[in-house]
Amino acid sequence: DGRWYMMMVRTGVPGGRLTAEQLLAEIDLSEKHGNGTVRATSRQGLQVHGVLKSNIRETIREINRIKLSTFAACGDVGRNTMCCPEPSADPVRHAMQQDAERIAKLLRPRTSSYYNIWLRDANDPEGEKLDVTAHHPMNDLPEIPGADRDTNNDAVEPLYGTVYLPRKFKVGFALPEDNCVDVYSQDLGFLAVRDENDPDKLAGYNVLVGGGMGMTPAKKDTFPRLGDRMAFVTPEDVLAVAAAVVRVQRDHGERQNRKRARLKYLVHDRGLDWFREQVEADLGRKLDPPHAADVTDVDDHLGWREQGDGKWYLGLPVPDGRIADFAPDDPHGGGQWKSCLRELLTEYGSDVRITPLVGIVLCDFREDQKAAVGAILRKHKCQPAEELSLMRRNSMACVALPTCGLAVTESERVIGQVIQDIESRVAQYGLSAERISIHMTGCPNGCARPYTPDIGLVGKARNKYTLYLGGRVDGTRMAFLYEDMVALDKIAEVVSPALAYFKQAGRDVGQPGGETFGDFCARVGEKDLKRYAAELQGE
Ligand code: SF4
Repeated sequence: DGRWYMMMVRTGVPGGRLTAEQLLAEIDLSEKHGNGTVRATSRQGLQVHGVLKSNIRETIREINRIKLSTFAACGDVGRNTMCCPEPSADPVRHAMQQDAERIAKLLRPRTSSYYNIWLRDANDPEGEKLDVTAHHPMNDLPEIPGADRDTNNDAVEPLYGTVYLPRKFKVGFALPEDNCVDVYSQDLGFLAVRDENDPDKLAGYNVLVGGGMGMTPAKKDTFPRLGDRMAFVTPEDVLAVAAAVVRVQRDHGERQNRKRARLKYLVHDRGLDWFREQVEADLGRKLDPPHAADVTDVDDHLGWREQGDGKWYLGLPVPDGRIADFAPDDPHGGGQWKSCLRELLTEYGSDVRITPLVGIVLCDFREDQKAAVGAILRKHKCQPAEELSLMRRNSMACVALPTCGLAVTESERVIGQVIQDIESRVAQYGLSAERISIHMTGCPNGCARPYTPDIGLVGKARNKYTLYLGGRVDGTRMAFLYEDMVALDKIAEVVSPALAYFKQAGRDVGQPGGETFGDFCARVGEKDLKRYAAELQGE
């Protein structure tokens, strides 16, 4: 009986920005129709799991009623546009967040099917009872630049034409000093460049193309890939260049073999120069070469931070983004996070930002409110970021079992234990002050971006993981495969010798500018790490 099928309902939240009322409504919805929890995603969206098929329509309608939408949160179109979410008075961040909003709207399909299928009142199909006018994400969509020149333009879909895209398409906006969105992992990345004479002014963006995380281990011609730096564009050209990149992928991307249909394979197979030429041909002009600016750091946006306007924001380390009340003995720390967020949002009505590392930011606190907020956290046994290890702050897991249909292993439900086990080795070697990141997924699809952090764990077979080492916490280097088919309970044991070797032979470990764990692993390489591990075992 189809009524008993269970679904996940994903809300796209461009740049992770929403209101207190919207998050409270999603929590209510999860209790009414889902499994009672809401999951913040690694693309700054929200997921409600366990929704019965018979309740899907009402759930989607309710999400649209609160001026959010599930439209294009999935499918072969532009997915949820990511952007560094910091609620800062910094004008460059502000301009970048506005550009991310514009791109999110540009990439929104223009079809009315979603509206007709999900939002019309089932009892009054001719009526349009759901208010999707003011401030609704499906409204005020911009013109598609270049649509008049586009021979595959379609009246219904002026950007996607009659065929949509070969595969999903991901966009992210970052700053050099804060690559929290992993700009190199996006199909299309925008790296903000500050004006050299006025750092409060946005000069433009370096445009990156062809990043992507997913792979299919059995298909050797599939792989995770970092994006290439294609060009520098001014803020005025952002929409035009994004539309051109989308059209090049639409018209030249692989359509026979879905496993190789992402933009990264087009850029890899045809080369960056060819790809740039196609974009230039679409635009009808040359592009400028990329600016020298590049990623230098990353911020987790956790803890109390000044916004720069006299107010404070608080980044909450909700474990793996799962807004739930955890059992006291749960390795996620046993915090009553759902109750805590309910109380904070109801009391203070703060605007909310979801971070790309699945934290929840609450905005606009006064200095004199901080003590009371801290008391609410303590009451619900929610550990603030300042009490967590650097490893916990910089790690995340994908949803995986039991709700992701593609999962082959656990991820979210076990990463707490994995971190605990590795943390004890890190403490044993005196490395607790090191920023070491772990990203874990339940399959090679890579939703938690596991191929670029210091330690990547990718579900391979029942209870077995592929272990990657040598990435960087700032997402600028691809990790290498260190060991395949590592049993879940052996992960810390396999990582441990590399940590010991790093402590012994890493350059300036613990000093400013010293080598990170990922840098060290990348420098010495797999063979040397394994030699050291074998020597340790022989002792
Ligand atoms: Fe994504 Fe795979 Fe994790 Fe599912 S199991 S959430 S598809 S990485």
